Amino acid sequence: MTAVKVRRFAETFCDAENEVWRKVFTERDHRALRKIIRGLGRFYAGGIDIQIKRGRKPDSWFEEDAPGFLERVVKRELRGFRAAENEFVLYTSSAGRNGRAGTLSWRLSGRITGESLVIVGLCRACPTCGGVGHAAGSTCGECSGDRWKHTQGLQLDAESELSQAPFEVVSVPTDEVSLPLFAHLESGGL
Ligand SMILES: [Zn+2]
Repeated sequence: MTAVKVRRFAETFCDAENEVWRKVFTERDHRALRKIIRGLGRFYAGGIDIQIKRGRKPDSWFEEDAPGFLERVVKRELRGFRAAENEFVLYTSSAGRNGRAGTLSWRLSGRITGESLVIVGLCRACPTCGGVGHAAGSTCGECSGDRWKHTQGLQLDAESELSQAPFEVVSVPTDEVSLPLFAHLESGGL
């Protein structure tokens, strides 16, 4: 039952975040934008701080290229998750700015309290080793082999009960960058 709740939460969260980022780039009315950002904030313990900044290009550029551009830049998809009694972790992809469509790149950890689920911590796959943990035969100097770089909120405890929870696959990434990290998750890693 917990897994069903977490999956539903994660899918709703991804939809909400994709909608927010689509509007960050296209919505002219900042009041309307703040309202949907507050809506996204209910997924995060302590809220969320999204800076409303347009790109350096004029709005007309986004309007002309928006469909393809937004698919490449902002789309978050659920790749898999783990759920234990009191906590969960989500693994999601986002396209990033380098055209790597669907690259597995985020780890979001959360807490379950009764009916309420909230995200409490955020990590990004290490940009130096791409989430592999090593490079050129040596342990990665940036993440110390951990594969993830802490971005904000609480860090996942290695002794957490999540390390015993099965990895539930939602959608397998197909890009080469994600495959080693995905294989690690499937083999029981966090
Ligand atoms: Zn690294």
